[in-house]
Amino acid sequence: MKVAIVGGGPSGLYLALLLKRRAPRWTVEVIEQNAADATFGFGVVLADSGLQQLREADADSYDALSEATRQHQHQIIVQAETPIGFRLPVKGGAIPRLTLLQILEQHAEQAGVVVHYRERIESTADLARLGLQDADVVVGADGINSVIRREFEQGFATTSNTLGNHFAWYGTSKVFAASALVFRKYQGGHFVAHYYAYSDEMSTFVAECDDATWERLALGQMTEGQRQALMEEIFAPELEGAPLISGNARVVWRQFPVIRNAHWTHGRHVLVGDALASAHFSIGSGTRIAMNDAIALAEALLACNGDAGAGLAAYERTHRPSKQKLIGASERSYLWYERMGQWMDTYSPEEFVYQFMTRTGRVNDERLREQYPELMVRLGRAGSAA
Ligand SMILES: Cc1cc2nc3c(=O)[nH]c(=O)nc-3n(C[C@H](O)[C@H](O)[C@H](O)COP(=O)(O)OP(=O)(O)OC[C@H]3O[C@@H](n4cnc5c(N)ncnc54)[C@H](O)[C@@H]3O)c2cc1C
Repeated sequence: MKVAIVGGGPSGLYLALLLKRRAPRWTVEVIEQNAADATFGFGVVLADSGLQQLREADADSYDALSEATRQHQHQIIVQAETPIGFRLPVKGGAIPRLTLLQILEQHAEQAGVVVHYRERIESTADLARLGLQDADVVVGADGINSVIRREFEQGFATTSNTLGNHFAWYGTSKVFAASALVFRKYQGGHFVAHYYAYSDEMSTFVAECDDATWERLALGQMTEGQRQALMEEIFAPELEGAPLISGNARVVWRQFPVIRNAHWTHGRHVLVGDALASAHFSIGSGTRIAMNDAIALAEALLACNGDAGAGLAAYERTHRPSKQKLIGASERSYLWYERMGQWMDTYSPEEFVYQFMTRTGRVNDERLREQYPELMVRLGRAGSAA
């Protein structure tokens, strides 16, 4: 079998690694537009529940990823300038996105995968340049702006819409002791910062505001530099003088595109990760969802006895229900954030934290009591979680 994977992000590299480890005679090649040492974003969260699946799929890369993950033990949520802190129940933490990709690349290359760096594909016709025009399977692992998806938009029955909130993915050299979400009102606007350390030198710092705030404070008329300075001012108590860093992105502030595809495959073409369904960053699971897709597609292709069409059909059939659960959680989460101004104006800090913790519908009171007993005492005392 010959598999061409467009995109060397978490889903593409992981899929290549899983396929080539178990089927060394297959041709598995990855095409990545960036250089090996370049990527977007800073650190990403890898929660424990996701890590377990990675362990079952490939123990070696799991060990390397676990070792490079900086564990998070505490979380703080600040609403109305009242911090509510609690211990996190499960293992997990954050990893520099670049380290994650380098680990996957190293393990993929050891298994025999060829990765073509600095090769941007504009359409499937470009596969010929790399001798991959006759691939049995062409995987769109090329993220939110997938060219594979765009080329066959009708076949995949793609839909997309854009959320109202605006966000920016920054880094900072301040190494925070606990991961935190700080909801803050500023000049009548509603802002939130979500930050966590991902190495001994750096933290991720995601800033967000709702659309009404964007208009009210005329953020749209500001330069990226001015918006960054404004965030440094609003979150000065947390940053304590450390500057924000915007990386190499040209456009820092964006609105999140919600992308869905009614069909996951079109002929020999198949989508995984953000190309298939963009997972909102507020659930901190986009990377693991993308890697889960890779696991499911690898298993389906490896089990299909060379019948690629049957493998692709099995991928969609078997994986859709579990993917849908996580994407559903992502949807409920971003809908909550879209109304965050209303929640910030309405709820006490305790009520707010309770609403936040239960926003995706995946956590109920029983699970909260079991996993966050200390937090429940605090919320219970306030009468908000009874
Ligand atoms: C602000 C923010 C914070 C986030 N925080 C987290 C977090 O804490 N935890 C988490 O798990 N997830 C987080 N995510 C989500 C996570 O980054 C994505 O869900 C994940 O990277 C998806 O992986 P992927 O492999 O599908 O796509 P990507 O990671 O987007 O990888 C796609 C790859 O394809 C390459 N590519 C694209 N087009 C082409 C082309 N035409 N030719 C060749 N190569 C191409 C790109 O260069 C890229 O390397 C966050 C996202 C954002 C925006």
